[in-house]
Amino acid sequence: MEHRNPSVDEVMAEARSYIRDPEDLFLISKAAEYAAAHHAGQFRKSGEPYIIHLNNVAYILATMRVGPKTIAAGFLHDVIEDCGISHDELAAEFDEEIADIVEAVTKIGTLEYKGKDDPEYQAANHRKIFIAMAKDVRVILVKLIDRLHNMRTLQYQSAASQKRIAAETLDVYAPIAHRLGISAVKNELEDLSFFYLNREEYYHIARLVEAKKAERDESVKRMIADISELLTKNNIQFRIFGRSKHLYSIYRKMITKNKRFDEILDLLAIRIVTRTELNCYEILGYIHAAYKPIPGRLKDYIAVPKTNMYQSIHTTIIGSDGKIFEVQIRTEDMDSVAERGVAAHWRYKEGRKYDAKAEQREIEEKLSWLKSITLYSEDQSEGTSASEYMASLQKDIFEANVYVMTPMGRVIDLPNGSTPIDFAYRIHTDVGHTAVGAIVNDAMVPLNTELHTGDVVQIKTMKGTGPSEDWLKFVKTNQARNKIRSYLTKKEFEKKAERTEEGEKALRDELTKRGFDAKEYMEKKKLENVFGEFHVSNYTDFMYGIAVKSINVTHVCEKLTNQKRPVNDQEALEKLLHRKEKKQVRTRTGVIVPGIETMKITIAQCCLPVYGDPIVGFITKGNGVKVHRADCPNIKDMQSRLIDVAWEDADMEHSYDADILIYCFDRNFLITDIVTVVSQLKAPLINISAKVNKDKITSTVKLTVQVENTGHLESLMANLRKVDSVRTVSRISH
Ligand code: MN
Repeated sequence: MEHRNPSVDEVMAEARSYIRDPEDLFLISKAAEYAAAHHAGQFRKSGEPYIIHLNNVAYILATMRVGPKTIAAGFLHDVIEDCGISHDELAAEFDEEIADIVEAVTKIGTLEYKGKDDPEYQAANHRKIFIAMAKDVRVILVKLIDRLHNMRTLQYQSAASQKRIAAETLDVYAPIAHRLGISAVKNELEDLSFFYLNREEYYHIARLVEAKKAERDESVKRMIADISELLTKNNIQFRIFGRSKHLYSIYRKMITKNKRFDEILDLLAIRIVTRTELNCYEILGYIHAAYKPIPGRLKDYIAVPKTNMYQSIHTTIIGSDGKIFEVQIRTEDMDSVAERGVAAHWRYKEGRKYDAKAEQREIEEKLSWLKSITLYSEDQSEGTSASEYMASLQKDIFEANVYVMTPMGRVIDLPNGSTPIDFAYRIHTDVGHTAVGAIVNDAMVPLNTELHTGDVVQIKTMKGTGPSEDWLKFVKTNQARNKIRSYLTKKEFEKKAERTEEGEKALRDELTKRGFDAKEYMEKKKLENVFGEFHVSNYTDFMYGIAVKSINVTHVCEKLTNQKRPVNDQEALEKLLHRKEKKQVRTRTGVIVPGIETMKITIAQCCLPVYGDPIVGFITKGNGVKVHRADCPNIKDMQSRLIDVAWEDADMEHSYDADILIYCFDRNFLITDIVTVVSQLKAPLINISAKVNKDKITSTVKLTVQVENTGHLESLMANLRKVDSVRTVSRISH
């Protein structure tokens, strides 16, 4: 579509058509002058003066009937970025609200060009958009229109930029426009993106549409005449017109529904706009009486609006010439919401003081998903990466296509396959945590029941109960999954704290039994001195170890008091014997030197080979053979002292130490998650240490674990790689 560049006068004329307050109009023209003055001398890629872009953005916003401040922000949206104006200067010249909007729009924009190849940056950028939108929808409105005008003038960009910007528009901005119900903008963004991303298909469909146009127009014209006569006869006021689907929606239907062009049913479409809701149902009645409706195609979005506030009745009928028509019936208000969505709601109302916060609250009420975004954004602990945030948002909110209702009629949208637990967490975290039963359409159902569109869901809760680990197996939304996980982790920590007290008591008793002053030896400083010996780094882990007996309390007493165990302590002696025996089994290596029967063989501590690794023997001077990994750098230039060695046949009694290095983004509970994986894989943990790296974002974790063989080690490492925020996992040689 060709667009003519509007002048400032034309923007003002458009604004004057619905804004009467001279102060408001003055604000707009002041913003226009300010922008023109500061952008003077700047040019767009098209060669046109920069101000043309701003006039366009402000003009489109004015046609959407937004408030004066939003139009002003449209003129000013690039002055921070391109003219070096600060937020405070803008606030002083105009006001805080306008400065805030412009600043937020700028922040969204500047992130795009930073490391665009890095998915983490891309996700961070998108997160910014959503958080900004959740705070003030006007920000995204300006950003959307900015993007719309940039898309209209994309031909001046390089081919690579065209593809990147079009892809981002299709992935991020069109879905936002859709979710905000601004379908006119959404459709145009989609078709423009489609053109730049897949020109061949675009032209193909455009030609198909064109070829059938005359015939279709004729059918639609006849149908409009017939229906008009029918409604006029029944004294109903209405407007009726044909409408064409935009190319991208045809393309998407052909792809997702795997249909040929001529199979797409609602290609012939008619819209009837009338005065009242009651008129809508009347019209539906007359049409169904006159034409045969296709079963299952009647949708009443008036009674149950879509989550983007869209309201209308849809029905599909067979026309008099056998052609199939989709008919939409709605009121003028509904029509305006259908075209402009949230912007229609935002529509400037003369003589009413604008209150941004109140408007935002009102909009959140209408758009339950926007409320969800707000909750999501508040929910995110600092440890959550931007890509995780985006994944949750994408899955839980944008892919939502099951619409269920609370008993009060509030519509909740959920992704496919969601269960009452997902629903419960969407209502409120506490409802999720204390859910014990679900009633769907008046029948009690199991908590893992799959919900379907139209279900009325009610959750039974009971105080004092908590989520079950089993829920993790069936929940579909990341929101529910994260809430359940963090609850369980917290519980585990609390349990650990309880066990800590047990450990303290065990140590105190043991010290007292041996005649030592427990108080003296249990001083924090003294205890800290021995942490290293027991491979723990803090008090809680130490006491927990004693409580669960992974740390031997006798051994601790001995270390703390520097005393050998008393010789008459038979029990301690037995334990010592038992321990020695075990240790001997462990020091056996499982390695043989072919052809030699008795030979001292030890595992090299530098590279710690594990059963199954390619290995080689190094003949030491007077200390037998040390077994290294074949690729150990320490023996690289020692060919003359190397001999062949081999693993004995598999013997499950052996276990091997292995050092693992994990590089990850730092976050809360990271160590807990790593230790959980290690224990799930049944690899005894010998040592763990972690440090946050200089960049303050990443951390390095070192683990020593016992594994049975390389297979065991590899599956452990593979599972560690799956831990959230872990980047690399590798074995190390010293
Ligand atoms: Mn711009």
